[in-house]
Amino acid sequence: MSSWEPVIGLEIHVQLKTRTKMFCRCETSFGLEPNTRTCPVCLSHPGALPVANAQAIEWTIKFGLAVGCKVAARALFARKNYFYQDLPKGYQISQFEAPLCVGGHLVVPGPEGEREIRLNRAHLEEDAAKTIHVGGVEGRIVGAEHSLVDFNRGGTPLMEIVTEPDIHSAEEAKRFLQLLRQTVVELGISDAEMEKGTLRCDANISVRPAGASELRTRCELKNMNSFNFIGRGIEAEIERQKKVYASGGEVKQETYDFDAASGTLTAHRSKEEAQDYRYFPEPDLVPYEPGPELIERLKAEIPESPGVRLARLESVLGYETALKLVMGGLDGLYEKLVGEGAEAKAVANVLMNELTAAGIEPAAVNPSELAKVIKERSNMQRAAFTDAIAASGTDSFAAIDFISRGAISDTSELEPLIERILAANPGQVEQYRGGKEGLLGFFVGQVMKETGGKANAKVVSELVRAKLCS
Ligand SMILES: [Zn+2]
Repeated sequence: MSSWEPVIGLEIHVQLKTRTKMFCRCETSFGLEPNTRTCPVCLSHPGALPVANAQAIEWTIKFGLAVGCKVAARALFARKNYFYQDLPKGYQISQFEAPLCVGGHLVVPGPEGEREIRLNRAHLEEDAAKTIHVGGVEGRIVGAEHSLVDFNRGGTPLMEIVTEPDIHSAEEAKRFLQLLRQTVVELGISDAEMEKGTLRCDANISVRPAGASELRTRCELKNMNSFNFIGRGIEAEIERQKKVYASGGEVKQETYDFDAASGTLTAHRSKEEAQDYRYFPEPDLVPYEPGPELIERLKAEIPESPGVRLARLESVLGYETALKLVMGGLDGLYEKLVGEGAEAKAVANVLMNELTAAGIEPAAVNPSELAKVIKERSNMQRAAFTDAIAASGTDSFAAIDFISRGAISDTSELEPLIERILAANPGQVEQYRGGKEGLLGFFVGQVMKETGGKANAKVVSELVRAKLCS
């Protein structure tokens, strides 16, 4: 059987965390009493006029600048016409020609090195209201008795990001999305939480014979609400299309939902083409022309991109660990600790496990003191190490208070004990002297056991080795 190459493009909606909605002054909200954050504009009363949210526009431009987009000199809003009960105007205000940001890219680390995924555009639009189906299975429309609409979400600003079809595996799609999420979170423009629906992703998927350059019929995968589901959903769709072609069939352009519990795909409607939406410029909003001062100010606010930091860490720690550090906001401290001479993997482990479990704010930690503790870890009692981590976020934290605490380093105390242990294990002593040097750990372990873990492991192993070689 010939091999197939998946071709994947993503459409991502990021809910911007502005205080108010995109075209009115209603508060944005999550989980409030339904229909309590509404006004004539977001309820689409006749004659109500939209006013664009300047913060949402600036943030979209800021994102664009962070990923190398070209910012439009003159951006337009457009009406996207369709009818649904969650959109009583009969159209959504979006952008079509002249979006705020065009082009750009993200560099995604992967097993075969870094790959550049190009963006087509990033534009701004308003969200529709939320429909709740009552009486059906799991809130689905099929079998529902009636449907309710909550307009609190209607009019919330959404940044839509569309990629070029540059992604070639489910894993790459997941990595791209994780990096994109981290980018918007660090820019401070969205919480981008998939579980809350503030980050949503649809995938356009097709397959083609490996090495071909054609684009075959694509299917759209919708409603995936975790990184894990996205990976599995795309995988399932790729396999489905391969089977269709392998059995001599043709893939039809359709939209699918992925059900994570059963791992199955359900087709739900044929996809509209752009012309079906009859886009035209929104006559109630003036074109937007960002000035050079704004662009310069926004550029100056952009921090070093998480992609660059991820790539730097990945080469040392591997992707999963690097991603956890970057996404956990721990990589800044990681780099400082390694800069103080602590070993990279040990630092990563301490940060992801002990420091996180202790609830220590990374910014509060004095890196040079914590680095000393990490370097001395093998010589410290477990309890002293745990206490040191717990205290590492305080101003008075000093490594020396913990490193020297309670450990038995006194050779006159340790030597008789070591001699007793060697005498009690003549077989192991003989094996060690016969070349089985791994047994050193066994003897050190015995000493630690006898002392209740209080012996200085480094001193013990030096003493044991000296005695066995004598
Ligand atoms: Zn409103």
